[in-house]
Amino acid sequence: MSTSPGSETGGGPSDYIMEVARKVLLTLSRQGIPVTPENYRVWFEYTTGSTQALTQEIDGLLGDGCAFDEERNRQIYEKYFGGDKERKLIDEVSQATFRMLKEALEGLIATGTVTQDYSQRLSGFAARLEQGDPDPEALKSMIEEVILDTRKVEHSNSELMQQLEKAKQEGNELRQKLEEAEREATRDVLTGLYNRKFLDKAVRALHDLYKEEGAPFSVIMMDIDFFKKVNDTHGHKVGDSVLEFIGQTITGSVKGRDVPARYGGEEFIILLPATSCEGGCKLAESLRQQVSSKTLKIKTSQTTIGKITVSCGVAEMGEHDTVDSVVERADKALYHAKRSGRNRVMSERDLLEAPESAEAAASSA
Ligand code: GH3
Ligand code: MG
Ligand code: MG
Repeated sequence: MSTSPGSETGGGPSDYIMEVARKVLLTLSRQGIPVTPENYRVWFEYTTGSTQALTQEIDGLLGDGCAFDEERNRQIYEKYFGGDKERKLIDEVSQATFRMLKEALEGLIATGTVTQDYSQRLSGFAARLEQGDPDPEALKSMIEEVILDTRKVEHSNSELMQQLEKAKQEGNELRQKLEEAEREATRDVLTGLYNRKFLDKAVRALHDLYKEEGAPFSVIMMDIDFFKKVNDTHGHKVGDSVLEFIGQTITGSVKGRDVPARYGGEEFIILLPATSCEGGCKLAESLRQQVSSKTLKIKTSQTTIGKITVSCGVAEMGEHDTVDSVVERADKALYHAKRSGRNRVMSERDLLEAPESAEAAASSA
């Protein structure tokens, strides 16, 4: 179903945000939740489904028939968005979207070209948004009426069209900002891979899925060989370019739900949902070969950096694993690959054949 004012004219991303905004306002009114930026934020995330845990929690509460009173709304907001500095920007964007809706309504009224009856309804709607204290049923029907009326008037009123166009454009810009903010919060700037924070969340989610549904996953841990020497010989900037090159190689080889991440420094982790240890080894071996087959050059001077190699360790989530233990086992396998001469892939199975390497790794940790 598509009844947003913008949905008839385009199908672009700005239509999407108007559609989402409409759904959010309808949900808030249905649940009797005051329209504040914080509540708007929570239900915006819920409507887009972008924060999985939040969506699950709210679905659970809805299923249990819980009331979304002031205290519960505050708790949810605090839990997911309170005190999280990195998401401050997203918060601001969400508040801006909220403002945009209000301004669009006020703008419609200001044109003065709509019928008095329609204008009064819009004024009432804007005032209720301002108060943040709507009578749920009345607000719900009002929103629906406003949307329907707007669509009717839209065809016969060019100023109104312009006003809506402007609101849509702003929505588009806000959506881009939101995407950028989301990207910044989850990505490593240098390599473009996921950052450590996102990785930690992703591995916990995969661990939960394994416990709940037995969904398998594997972990590749990769470390650049003798990277310190690259920095010492060619400088830190060249070292950074090598990290970028590794990031690109990994990005070009993963797919779908894989989670390629920079674990720290010159170490990388790739989480592979629905993949066995054997499958993980295949990907790791392909990456190792791709990296070692290239001779890297410094663009500006054409100086040869030479061959870069990587070592990899692979482990698969097992019945007795915790989030940490499966990563530790991949790390031990990586350590075994280093001790065995570098530029190679070792898995948890190789550790069984070389227990001394596993022990050495454990005692050095
Ligand atoms: P190994 O084969 O045993 O892994 O040897 P290595 O030299 O790669 O390992 P070591 O841990 O001794 O050195 C890692 C180096 O990675 C040291 C550090 O300066 C460099 N490094 C870590 N992060 C960055 C970064 O962001 N940029 C650059 N250029 N270098 C980094
Ligand atoms: Mg290292
Ligand atoms: Mg290294």
